[in-house]
Amino acid sequence: MEIRVSSYTAVVDCPHCGCGNSNWVMDPRGAEAECDNCEKKFTVPENASITLT
Ligand SMILES: [Zn+2]
Repeated sequence: MEIRVSSYTAVVDCPHCGCGNSNWVMDPRGAEAECDNCEKKFTVPENASITLT
């Protein structure tokens, strides 16, 4: 048995350039990431709000 989640895409805007990053393999909160666009590193706050779109 498996659980498949097909419509969940988390997007976090880079604080440096504003580019949306969506290559998350899990909940991005508390994670350290590197921007796809400017390649600068940033940390997603644990208390970041989630907006469903
Ligand atoms: Zn960036």
